[in-house]
Amino acid sequence: MTELNFDLIVVGCGAAGLSTAVSAAERGLKVAVLERSLREERGGQTRWTEAYLRMQSHDEVTDDFDLFLAENAGFYQDPDFVAETLSDRSAWSTQARNQAFIDASLIGTFAENVPGTIAWLKEQGVRFDFLPTQFLTSTQPRLLPVGGGEAIVECLAARAEALGVAFFYQTTARGLVSHELNRVAGLRAWSVERGALQFNGAVMLACGGFQGNLEMLSRYLGPKAAFIRPVCKGGYFNRGEGIQMALDIGAAAAGEYGNFHAEPVDPRSGISEPSIFIFPYGVLLNKEGKRFTDEAPGTVDAWYERVTRQILAQTEGIAWVILDQKVKDIPNYKLGIRTDQPAIEGATLAELARKLELPVQQVERSIAEYNAACRPGNWKPLELDGVATEGLQPPKSNWALPLDAGPYFAYPIISANVFTFGGLKIDEQARVINIDGAPIDNLYAAGEAAAMYFNNYCGGTSVLRGLVYGRRAGQTAAQVTA
Ligand SMILES: Cc1cc2nc3c(=O)[nH]c(=O)nc-3n(C[C@H](O)[C@H](O)[C@H](O)COP(=O)(O)OP(=O)(O)OC[C@H]3O[C@@H](n4cnc5c(N)ncnc54)[C@H](O)[C@@H]3O)c2cc1C
Repeated sequence: MTELNFDLIVVGCGAAGLSTAVSAAERGLKVAVLERSLREERGGQTRWTEAYLRMQSHDEVTDDFDLFLAENAGFYQDPDFVAETLSDRSAWSTQARNQAFIDASLIGTFAENVPGTIAWLKEQGVRFDFLPTQFLTSTQPRLLPVGGGEAIVECLAARAEALGVAFFYQTTARGLVSHELNRVAGLRAWSVERGALQFNGAVMLACGGFQGNLEMLSRYLGPKAAFIRPVCKGGYFNRGEGIQMALDIGAAAAGEYGNFHAEPVDPRSGISEPSIFIFPYGVLLNKEGKRFTDEAPGTVDAWYERVTRQILAQTEGIAWVILDQKVKDIPNYKLGIRTDQPAIEGATLAELARKLELPVQQVERSIAEYNAACRPGNWKPLELDGVATEGLQPPKSNWALPLDAGPYFAYPIISANVFTFGGLKIDEQARVINIDGAPIDNLYAAGEAAAMYFNNYCGGTSVLRGLVYGRRAGQTAAQVTA
């Protein structure tokens, strides 16, 4: 087998991997980047995202940043362990070191290092601005890289190439090489062109979650996994090998393995992120023709994930949003409809239900009950207006206008998997932690491969965590090698 020697072998060419590669190469390390895709497709998920960043200015995260992450760091955590992870790591008990929850210190270090990381990206040539988003209502501002995630990928990849980083495309990492317990010596990979390769050196796992692997999804999420799909074509490359190969040598698992970041999309569309964020202005019906959730409990940015999870819980994981012509009175309403597929239209509700292959009488009954529960109010589509239904279960808490202005139209919605929550436990230096709570020598992880979330995703933080901890991995690897 061909053997190749490097100081650091980075698996994955997205935000996390490229940040590692550039920061390590800037410090003089000999770096390889292994990437499963073709060069033209490089960038993984990062290439496809617009990359909203949860920041209130170019150098400040939002006020709720740490708190939101901390509130979703694990369910019913033992408060003593949480308190420990706020102190110096050397004083932590064994139990606190290897739990699946997200350490308070990891969240704190993340938030502290965002401004410096953005400044570093600007030095690399990435530009940022507060640009329009697809959310018609939101609670938090979002800073965006101009040109989206693709701009981050192309800028960092060009910089890595200029620094002499060696890229191996169509090369898939298959397993870690570890001759001694708790120490990594390299990894084995399969290259489409060259066959089996062995890379010797420290390893950085930046190869994403397991959203592209239905077997692993079914294992952790259960049979409903069959009804979800990656939100973009880049997601199919992330098949969980990085997580699995580290678990195989004794790494600790963290994050909520049975959960993922959910986004409402039109299943008929093959474009990236064909999202349907217009549902708060209509009514959601399941395959039985019934309502099942409050469509508008709050601003769409804060609530879409929880509503989407309710859609996944329905028969075959699908629902339809029913709208009438009044939705067109909302300024810029098309921002909330990103699919490239046309709406399904019907002059009457019965005609629409027939086209959707839903039970006609039940659809008519559901809408009639909803309409009867609507009350007059001061409808303000771009803010929470409290125009709610009365006496209806489930209620609709905002923007509840009767659906009576035909022709009616509808979009099907399923839950896309933006990324999985289960990953590897890392410390503040992005070192992978073993099942007894100590770092594994020469093994790093960041981005989706490293855990950061439970329950409700803190929107606009996944690109940032890859950038921050990816960069830190490169810095740590350089310190260890020096
Ligand atoms: C459409 C979309 C919209 C999103 N919107 C936002 C947003 O607005 N804000 C936000 O913060 N986050 C958002 N996210 C999430 C965020 O973009 C990703 O979680 C983040 O970019 C992942 O970065 P990463 O480096 O961990 O993984 P990736 O960018 O996915 O990179 C992983 C790379 O590893 C490669 N790979 C996988 N397995 C192997 C292997 N065994 N060997 C070699 N290579 C391998 C893959 O091909 C891929 O290139 C969005 C994601 C998508 C897809």
